[in-house]
Amino acid sequence: MEFKGFMINMVQSELEDAVGVENVSCTHAEQITYGVDYFWLSRMWADKGNTPPAPEFVVRPGSTEEVAKVMKIANYYKIPVQPWGGGSGSQGGALPMAGGILLDNKRMNKMLDLNTNAGTVTCETGIIFQTLEDYCQEKGYSMMHLPSCLTCCTVGGALAHNGIGILSTKYGKIDDMVLWMEVVLPTGEIIETLPVPKHSSGPNLIPLFLGSEGTLGIITKVKFRLIHEPEIRRHHAFLFPDIHTGYEACHKIVQAVKPSIIRLFDEAETVSIIKKVIGFEKQGSFMNLTLEGYKGIVAAEEEIALKLAQEYGAQYLGTEYGEKWYENRITFFYPGHIMNNPQMFGTLDTVATHENIEKIYWAMKAEVSKFPNVRFISHSSHWYDWGCMNYSRFILDNPPEDPEEALRLHNQIWNAGVRAALANGGVLNDHHGVGLKLSRLMKEQYGPAMKVLEIMKKGLDPNGIMNPYKMGL
Ligand SMILES: Cc1cc2nc3c(=O)[nH]c(=O)nc-3n(C[C@H](O)[C@H](O)[C@H](O)COP(=O)(O)OP(=O)(O)OC[C@H]3O[C@@H](n4cnc5c(N)ncnc54)[C@H](O)[C@@H]3O)c2cc1C
Repeated sequence: MEFKGFMINMVQSELEDAVGVENVSCTHAEQITYGVDYFWLSRMWADKGNTPPAPEFVVRPGSTEEVAKVMKIANYYKIPVQPWGGGSGSQGGALPMAGGILLDNKRMNKMLDLNTNAGTVTCETGIIFQTLEDYCQEKGYSMMHLPSCLTCCTVGGALAHNGIGILSTKYGKIDDMVLWMEVVLPTGEIIETLPVPKHSSGPNLIPLFLGSEGTLGIITKVKFRLIHEPEIRRHHAFLFPDIHTGYEACHKIVQAVKPSIIRLFDEAETVSIIKKVIGFEKQGSFMNLTLEGYKGIVAAEEEIALKLAQEYGAQYLGTEYGEKWYENRITFFYPGHIMNNPQMFGTLDTVATHENIEKIYWAMKAEVSKFPNVRFISHSSHWYDWGCMNYSRFILDNPPEDPEEALRLHNQIWNAGVRAALANGGVLNDHHGVGLKLSRLMKEQYGPAMKVLEIMKKGLDPNGIMNPYKMGL
């Protein structure tokens, strides 16, 4: 159905009845704003004066019940629904590619409960993550989820693509922090997960909705576990002769101790980003390491980590550069430090086991470097006992002027990088999600197992209205 004139006004009045007249709009400015997120292509497209994908209605529900009402209207008229949090996602996941209803969650921003006895916090999901963290810190707690987008992402956005913060190696990904969630299904029913995050009472619903990127429902409320601030947090830095020795040492370190941060930079990123942001001048493979907790335990872990790093030829740089890295953890993304238009860039983040991660680094570098004038820089962060994430980036300083040509080249570089990772045992994303950016590669990655996701999607969203064209669904 095409929504024009008389009909668009009929639907608008139903939406206004559901959420209030003042919470339904669609100004020209809003249409442009909601057509751009942190996906390079969407920004390049708009910067060149092209029309971004636009919704017909921007709807701002104030409660779970209002979300449910909107979903029922959308199903009746078969109108696409696009959940939107902070619009800080890098995968084009929030872009309204099929138009329809843009469901902006940010009015649902209430803190519902902070239980200091239980060490839990419950809130609505439209809240900005920094606001939640500030609230917890006032009571002596932290979420220990500190992504670099803390000030611009919502709790719902972080849950929807299963995000991660810089302290993840000790405290886990967001899926390690969730105890309970409330979700509005695409057909408008309100459901809750069971009251504990791990059980053997059938398949667990929490991981089904975490990382589903608004394709299977809208996460409206969440309960998280909380952690007390550590007694001590100590930062260190090392320089390895090359990335290979760095990978070997980091693997040994994460199996022996529990750092909160461990980041290994390749030689190219050490002499570019690390030099620029923290003023470190030497060549080699820079690594920063943070240990935290009770003083005595931290001291013992420091001794082990330093010894292991040195066994692999690392030069210990003391605490200064580790502290500088931590202080500048967000500065890395500020204008002047981060890549920006007119440069073309992309983050080929991949997660893999220790067995495969270095192979993937070399394979992606080889494939991406085949494109003329394309630079490749890389670091590995978010370490697990079993593997880690590789955050490689390609950069092209002078991309084609023509936006359509630039779009095709961007996708060709991505295809080459991602296919190199997949061929070597990588999984195409650790925490940024799939969105529109990588949607076309999901079937290739999952193979016959994609059927399971497709059946879930069909069952939960029979009219196919939730976040169309994303995540390969
Ligand atoms: C400078 C910068 C640094 C970043 N650093 C990190 C980092 O350290 N760690 C990290 O994990 N990410 C990082 N990101 C990526 C991004 O910010 C995250 O993906 C973020 O959590 C997205 O949240 P958002 O509220 O902006 O979501 P949006 O961009 O608005 O939406 C992202 C996806 O989630 C869906 N969605 C949003 N809310 C809901 C909901 N309530 N229910 C269901 N689906 C929903 C949308 O439809 C979309 O598919 C960074 C981004 C930037 C710009």
